[in-house]
Amino acid sequence: MKLPLISLAFLSSSAAILAAAPEQKNNNPKQPWSGYAVHEATRPHPKKVATNGAVTTAAPADAVVLFNGSDTAAWNQNWVVKDGIMIASPGNLSTNQSFGDCQLHIEWRVPAGREVSGQKGGNSGVFLMQRYEVQVQESHTNVTYADGQAGALYGQYPPLVNPSTPQGEWQSYDISFKAPVYEGEQCVSPARITVIHNGVVIHNNQAFHGTSTHRRLPEYPKNHPVKAPIMLQWHGDPIEFRNIWVREL
Ligand code: MG
Repeated sequence: MKLPLISLAFLSSSAAILAAAPEQKNNNPKQPWSGYAVHEATRPHPKKVATNGAVTTAAPADAVVLFNGSDTAAWNQNWVVKDGIMIASPGNLSTNQSFGDCQLHIEWRVPAGREVSGQKGGNSGVFLMQRYEVQVQESHTNVTYADGQAGALYGQYPPLVNPSTPQGEWQSYDISFKAPVYEGEQCVSPARITVIHNGVVIHNNQAFHGTSTHRRLPEYPKNHPVKAPIMLQWHGDPIEFRNIWVREL
């Protein structure tokens, strides 16, 4: 029917803006940068892009190897290691060494056959500086809110596209991270991140609006370290990891 469309053209501009505003389905605060509420279910999901899965890159000579298939000495506790794979186990896992600006390579997979629904079943996360999360999630078939799917800057930005592969298949993140800059208690330059998922850019020098948080708007705290550990999230799911290395920039 064409009539309603023609009628819309004669609405006042404010009414037109209201009509275009995204529908909010939850009571979380609205993100000023997107117009959507945090974790808004109606926020559009990025288009899927078929890939061959993980792009495996051997650690360059100047990298700090965080996991090579057996040695977990780089970490503050022991997650289960089996057949060259490190399996998420109770308690978040942090590196003993702290990092600021860095390049990180990490490979992960959701084990085949897990029952996954929304945020449950396939959840972990890669936290830069223990504060800035790139979400790990089963997002090949599983649907959750866009700012919480695989590759999302959790609670802030969905990935630009969705290159996720099925459960049981290895995937890779190649991350370039820039730590925030502070003058006293004021953040004068936000944390920034570029993320390549299975060889595909999903964030391009994107600024974080603050540290990652759940159901709230992010903010930069007054006190922030110059460097901090890299952390892998324990969210109750035995997500598997291999070939993890980092280079300080
Ligand atoms: Mg997570």
